[in-house]
Amino acid sequence: MEHEAVSKAVPQEAGRTPGEAKVYRPNTPEDAWKWMRTLGEGAKLSSGATLLRYQWESGAAEMPSYLISLDSVAAMKTIIVTDTELVIGAGVTLSELTLSSAVKAASPLLYTAARSVGAPSIRNMATIGGNVAWLIGDTIPALLASEASVVVWTESGRSLLLLEAWLKGRSQAPGGAVLIEKIIVPVSKQKSELLFYQKVGRRETFTPSVVTVAASGNLDEHGCLVNLRFAAGGGATEVTRLHEVERAAEGRRPEEAVTSVYHAMVDTFDPVSDAFAPASYRKKVAANLAASELLKLSRRKAEWSELA
Ligand SMILES: Cc1cc2nc3c(=O)[nH]c(=O)nc-3n(C[C@H](O)[C@H](O)[C@H](O)COP(=O)(O)OP(=O)(O)OC[C@H]3O[C@@H](n4cnc5c(N)ncnc54)[C@H](O)[C@@H]3O)c2cc1C
Repeated sequence: MEHEAVSKAVPQEAGRTPGEAKVYRPNTPEDAWKWMRTLGEGAKLSSGATLLRYQWESGAAEMPSYLISLDSVAAMKTIIVTDTELVIGAGVTLSELTLSSAVKAASPLLYTAARSVGAPSIRNMATIGGNVAWLIGDTIPALLASEASVVVWTESGRSLLLLEAWLKGRSQAPGGAVLIEKIIVPVSKQKSELLFYQKVGRRETFTPSVVTVAASGNLDEHGCLVNLRFAAGGGATEVTRLHEVERAAEGRRPEEAVTSVYHAMVDTFDPVSDAFAPASYRKKVAANLAASELLKLSRRKAEWSELA
C-alpha cells in the first residue's frame, strides 16, 4: 500500500477548500475496501477521475481528504469472455470496451453504449465502474437491458447482485460506502431480435444524454415478443428498468405493441426536468424511440417472411 500527497490548493472561486488530499494506492479490491472502511467518510474512491475532476473544478463537490485510487488494482482491469458471460473489471476503461472485438461480439449493447460516452479523451480514462457508480451513467441502460450483475463491497460484505437490485438499493438508501469490483453481463447464444441502444442528446456526438433507452428481447415461434428488458435514463434521471413497458409488449407482435409501449413509456418512465429539457419532453422522446424500434423490427420481420 502506497500513499502520496496531492495538492488540492484550488482557486477560491471554484468553491473548494484549499488543502491537500492524501492518495492511497491499494493493489487489491480487499485492500481498497479496507482503506474505505478505515478512512471513513473523508475518503473517496477514484478510478479515471473524469467525473470527480469535473465536480471539483465546477465546484459541485469538494476534493475529499483522502483519495483511494483504484489505478493499481490489476484484478479490476481485466475483461474475461466465456460462452456464458462477459466479466468486466470495474477499472476497465470505456475505450478498452470499444476496442475489444470480444466485447462487441458478446455485448453489442454495451459496446454501443461505451462508444456514446463523451469524447475519446474522456473514454481513455473513464471507467465502467465510475460510470455505473454515478447511477446516471450512459452504460447503465445497456447493462440493465442485458440483465447484468455487479460484484460489490458494502458494509454487509462482498456480494453478487443483479445491477437492477443494487441500483434500487442505492436509490432508496443513498450514501454509504460501496466499491464496485466487477460487472458481469450474461452472454446468450440466442440472438436478440429486438436489440437497441439509443442516446439522444442536444447534438450528434460528444453530448450529455437527454434521453437514453436500451432494450433487448426475442420473438417466439409465433412472432410475438418475449424475454423483454427495457431500461431508460437521461440527464440527471437515475436509470431504471421499465417493467411496465415490458409488460405492455410481452406476448404481442411488434406492430401490435407499438401503441401500448408508447403509452406505458409515457405513463411510467419518470425522468427529471432540468434547464435543457422538461420531463414531459423526455417521456415523449423515450416513447418515440421505443415505438420506432418496434416498427423497425416489424418491418424486418416482414422482410424475413418475404425471403423465406
Ligand atoms: C467532458 C465530459 C463528458 C462526459 N460525458 C459523459 C457521457 O456522455 N456519458 C456519461 O455517462 N458520462 C459522461 N461523463 C462523466 C464521466 O466521465 C463518466 O461517467 C465516467 O465513466 C466516470 O468514470 P471515472 O472512472 O472517470 O469515474 P471517477 O471520476 O473516478 O468516479 C466517479 C464516481 O464514482 C465513484 N467510483 C469510481 N470508481 C468506483 C468503483 N469501482 N466503485 C464504486 N465507486 C466508484 C467515485 O468515488 C466517484 O464518486 C463525462 C465527463 C466529462 C468531464
